[in-house]
Amino acid sequence: MKALIVDDSQIMRRIIVSVLKKAGVNDISEVNNGQEALDVLKQDKDIGLVLLDWNMPVMTGIETLKHIRTTNKQLPVVMVTTESEKERVVEAIKAGANDYMLKPFNPDDVLEKLRKYLESGGK
Ligand SMILES: [Mg+2]
Repeated sequence: MKALIVDDSQIMRRIIVSVLKKAGVNDISEVNNGQEALDVLKQDKDIGLVLLDWNMPVMTGIETLKHIRTTNKQLPVVMVTTESEKERVVEAIKAGANDYMLKPFNPDDVLEKLRKYLESGGK
């Protein structure tokens, strides 16, 4: 199972990487924005989980999600959001997000949340 982290904050990517590694996911790609994410997804068919930040330059998380869903309905996409953006989660779920994680993370909660995708994701 390979995970793709899409976030314009390097610090946030580092935090997510460490959580994923705790969950046994060591195959991780990172990109800065939604456009880069779409490019990677086009080329790398091994990615089985996307962790998608909301606020990013070039292409926002929700735009990215909508693009992903035009071609791929199955890929698990988890939105990464702050408490103040929580009401927008409804919009994201409607657009096809599987789940969301709230910043700042409690690593145990995140692991619990991601477990089902990691287990079902296979390779
Ligand atoms: Mg951001």
